[in-house]
This record gives sequence, structure tokens and C-alpha cells, in this order.
Amino acid sequence: MPRIRPIRTEAIVLRQRPLGDADRICVLFSPTRGRVEAVAKGVRKPLSKMSGHVEPLSRGQFGLAQGRSLFVVTDAQTLDSWPSLHDDVQRMTEALAMAELVERSTDADISSGPLYQLLRHSLDALADTPSPPAIRWWFTLRFFDQQGYRPELEACVRCRADVGPGGNGYSAVDGGVVCPSCHGAGHGQRLSSPVFRLLRYMRRSSAESTAQVRVDAQASAELEQHLRLSLEQALDGRLRSSGFAEELARAESIGRNASRAAAEREREEQERAAV
Ligand SMILES: [Zn+2]
Repeated sequence: MPRIRPIRTEAIVLRQRPLGDADRICVLFSPTRGRVEAVAKGVRKPLSKMSGHVEPLSRGQFGLAQGRSLFVVTDAQTLDSWPSLHDDVQRMTEALAMAELVERSTDADISSGPLYQLLRHSLDALADTPSPPAIRWWFTLRFFDQQGYRPELEACVRCRADVGPGGNGYSAVDGGVVCPSCHGAGHGQRLSSPVFRLLRYMRRSSAESTAQVRVDAQASAELEQHLRLSLEQALDGRLRSSGFAEELARAESIGRNASRAAAEREREEQERAAV
């Protein structure tokens, strides 16, 4: 069998899970290779030099060699560890939600430069913001664009009439804003004026500017619902089938971590049985 040359790539660590007593499987996101799963050997041992370089939600330069089934991390060097994400539960929750979205939408061996840059920029912005959810909203709108699902915010998606800020609906299935007349005929869910303005503002503004906007709890809940329904459309059922969209909407870090830990335990057992 021909020997495959090791790979060097920059990547963001999306997630990791334990493997056996000493190792971890790292889910890496590379701009050139998409999602890559690689075993980091010995990183659960106390004196591991590599463990600090494969932490979830850090960016680094990685050497990867092809193992029997997965890649093996041969070396890792941190480029950005985003400490302020790791010190704040709310920032961490939003960062994990973005990372999970990237993981679920990305296949292996797919060049993913634009999505990589979007995630990297969003994590930069998240690390330095007083308003973590706003960065995820901003990220999600651009994520939609990259998935080929760009919500229409200028004209009614059903009759093409220009829309003002009042009386509109939002239809995730149709892909955007519904004018008052079509909304009155039963299309779309209510789209309040503040959320309509916020969506348009986020589309044309930077992440940093978006984070400065004050959004009350009611508008925030409404926006989350429109984004969640749109995510289901953008990913064409991939989220729906996994229940991830509901999980994202709850964004309850405790419940989230508990259910993830249970799922990881189950997966670890399966992987151990397969090794
Ligand atoms: Zn209309």
C-alpha cells in the first residue's frame, strides 16, 4: 500500500471527544479540507504537551498523518486560543452553537475557505463583544447566504411588492419577507417592525456594529424563531432530523452539555468497540 504523505493545515477545533483512556478525537475544520476527524494521542495524560493545542474553539496549525481509519495529529501549534470565549458561559454557548452549525453543514474533503473565514471572523468578534447572541445572528445570516438560502428582505417573496417595515410576515418556507396583503391572506408568521429593521441592518452591517444594537427580549425571541425555521430550510432537513434546531433555540448550556455528554459517552463506547 503506498504511503500517504502527512498533511499540514490550519484549522479550528470544533469539538473533541474522549477515545479510550488517553486519547481524544478532535473534529477539525480546515479551510482547504473541510471537516477532518483526527486522533490526538495521549492528550488526556497529565503531562501531554499537545493537550493545550487541541482545545475546542481554538485555531491552530496541524500536522496530520493518515491512520488506519482516522487521521492522527502528529503536531499542533496554537495560533489563537480566544481566552475570553472560554472564560464566559454565554460567549462559549454561542461559539459552540456556531461550531455545531459548521460541523453539521460541512463534509470531509470539501474546500471551505469562505465558511472558515466567516467562522474565524465571528469568533474574533464574539471574543470581544458585550452582546454574544447578536454575533451568532450576524453569523447565521451570512451562513444562510453561503448555503444558497438568502432570505429576501426587500420585496414580498410571494407577490414581489416592495415592503415597508409594518404589518409584514416572514415565511421561512418561501424564503423571506411577506407583504401585509399576502400575510393577511395567511402566509408567513408575524414579522414585527423592530425585527424587520434588525434583519435588514444586520445584512448590511459589520458584526461589531450589529453587537451595538439594543434588542429587547420579545424581539430577540421572535428573531430566534425566524432564524430557527430558516435554518431548517437552509440545511434541508439535516437539522430537523437531528433535533438540533430545537437544541439551538433552547441554548441552555446545562441541559445542552448534559445531553451532549450522554451522546458522547454512547459514541465513545461504539468507537471503542470498533477499534
Ligand atoms: Zn405579497
